[in-house]
Amino acid sequence: MLGRDSRLTPSRLLAAMVLLIFAPSLSSPAAAEKTAESERRTLDCSADPCAALLPGASAFRPSERGDHWEGLDARGEIVGWLALSTDFVDVKAYSGKPMLTLVGLDTEGLITGARVLEHSEPILLVGIPEKALTDFVEFYTAKPALSRFVVGRTLEDNAFSVDAISGATVTALSQNITIVETARTLGAEVGVFSVAEVRPGHFIHEETPWTFAQMLEGELLQRLTVSEKAMGISESQEAYVDLYFGIADPSHIGRAVLGERNYDHHIGKLAEGEYLLVVFNTAPGSFKGSAFVRGGIFDRIRVLQGLREITFRDTDYDNLPDIAADDAPEINEGALFVLRGGRFDPGEPYDLVFLGSRYDKRGAFSREFRQFSATQQLPDSVYHVEANSDEEPWRQAWKSRTADILLLTTFLGLVVLVFVFRRHSMSNPDSAKRLHVASLFVAFGLVGLYLRAPVSVTQIFTLQESALGEWRWSLFLSDPLIFILWLFITGVSLVWGRGVFCGWVCPYGSFNRLCYSVGRRLGLPVFRVPPRIHRQLTRLRYVILFTLCILFFWNSILAERMAEIEPFKSTFLVSAWTRSPAFIAWWLVLFAASFLVYRPFCRYICPLGGGLTILGSHRISPPRRRAFCESCKVCSRDCLPGAIRPDGTIDTLECLSCMNCEATYRSRDLCPPLIGLDQLAEKSSLTAAEEAKRDRLLIEARDI
Ligand code: SF4
Ligand code: SF4
Repeated sequence: MLGRDSRLTPSRLLAAMVLLIFAPSLSSPAAAEKTAESERRTLDCSADPCAALLPGASAFRPSERGDHWEGLDARGEIVGWLALSTDFVDVKAYSGKPMLTLVGLDTEGLITGARVLEHSEPILLVGIPEKALTDFVEFYTAKPALSRFVVGRTLEDNAFSVDAISGATVTALSQNITIVETARTLGAEVGVFSVAEVRPGHFIHEETPWTFAQMLEGELLQRLTVSEKAMGISESQEAYVDLYFGIADPSHIGRAVLGERNYDHHIGKLAEGEYLLVVFNTAPGSFKGSAFVRGGIFDRIRVLQGLREITFRDTDYDNLPDIAADDAPEINEGALFVLRGGRFDPGEPYDLVFLGSRYDKRGAFSREFRQFSATQQLPDSVYHVEANSDEEPWRQAWKSRTADILLLTTFLGLVVLVFVFRRHSMSNPDSAKRLHVASLFVAFGLVGLYLRAPVSVTQIFTLQESALGEWRWSLFLSDPLIFILWLFITGVSLVWGRGVFCGWVCPYGSFNRLCYSVGRRLGLPVFRVPPRIHRQLTRLRYVILFTLCILFFWNSILAERMAEIEPFKSTFLVSAWTRSPAFIAWWLVLFAASFLVYRPFCRYICPLGGGLTILGSHRISPPRRRAFCESCKVCSRDCLPGAIRPDGTIDTLECLSCMNCEATYRSRDLCPPLIGLDQLAEKSSLTAAEEAKRDRLLIEARDI
């Protein structure tokens, strides 16, 4: 047990933990390089398993854009496309890194298959078999890419329900988005889908046309100015082109720029997935260029949006001689372009690119081309992106587990009520014990076996990594039950100590505690660790915690593997027959020991318990004690963790909040000094010695 003079004080533990978490120099450069390496990986169908994912294709060739490959049949016709997820989407999985996935799509818009080529998901690397992931991605084969896919149970008629990977929900949610979004974006790029199908939205129109000043202020017109100096024409900073541009589909913008009749005419001609882009220039130069006159191609101007590049021909163009808004400036030239092909997404930012040819003075015909660009993003008040069928993974997770969330929060709420109203809940020692046992059963059955939500030290790794790198709330929110449990743990640990979780809610801790009770009922002997060894052993859990946390920076996979010292995964998440003999043996050792020793894993080994001890080491409201507890010591007989010191005070680090001592403290039938006081009070007359004893007890009955 840790005495007051112990070298391992809560403050020192806290300081060490903070030091550990904010030791950025520990991050591994090798790991960073490895990530960058895999993120740079390009598709090569001569080496990658393209044939397996695109049945019917006998040959493959890279697309002109280079970000996907085409699959061709024996006649040389395209039967589908293949792409690497990292070329199209940026979805980070549980590890904080993307899962490199090869996805196939056919000409009908069906996903022809998906295969994970690389990943750093720890939960899959340790314990959960790779087959679970293979089975998960297999589900998407032959499903329409535009369908709605929900991970977990769903009552929606028109959605596919994909079974989550037990114990790897975040991985499954991320992989769902990775496959679906890659297929859809690939489909939009090759023309199987329009962007509007992939990412629907709508314009918000206003009755009254806006003024020019309003459009500028609201950033519905953007400006791109290129000086004569930048063009290499002269040293003057005068504008060569001073371009204003914007999307003219919203009626209050289109009418303000084109005028009412002109706007109605053009907007009426647009097909599905087409948009109007206005560009006009108030400076003497030209954005239309001479190639337009000669060949009908606008070579000086184009639109870039993500990987998509949109160029214009004369068939997409109409002249715009002036601007309708009264306060608009005189223009030198103007154009109304139609963004065709379903490749433009009004909900995403885009660049208008002006290609300027700069005379470099090396010769009459020697020219150097320079690009100038400006970005526009339509505000949500003008273009609203509809809630995508594939909302963020964490939202899906919360929706699909509503019933589980309710069950868990009800249980946690009841435990909190027990502690908030402990004056009443602990007033009767027998009913307090029954309440505690009931909680142990619910924790083991509901939180562990049914909800399969054991909190683990691996989540401390995630917290540590997020604190030092990219903080992603979405990652924490992706597993609602674990998120709620951590909120609960933080709150109760600060107020009442970690014992509220460890003693009442932790499914494995409860299982251990119940095993110990079964051992007593079976009449098995109790093995008590000698005090000196016990004191040393209690430090072990901090050593394990700190070692794992440091190891995580150097080798996250190894740390996750070592974190299997927690038997939680073997108990609640993974079928025993899929585990290696070493895991099973370790589990059996702990299981057997818990019948003979009171919660051996919790008291000596659990790194999570070590972390929570530090969190709750300065709890605000420990179990109540009185001054006479020091001499009485009855409570210590019922304190199975041995957390009551010889002087009657409680060792916060070892207390598991069973509340036996507080029930005794409140009991006028069990607490000897209180019984003594009552007996003295019942006497009609007291001797001087009795009076002195009563006075002493009354003083010592005050809380300490
Ligand atoms: S010490 Fe670990 S296993 Fe034991 S109750 Fe606490 S968290 Fe659970
Ligand atoms: S009996 Fe021991 S473990 Fe239980 S609340 Fe009291 S000090 Fe903590």
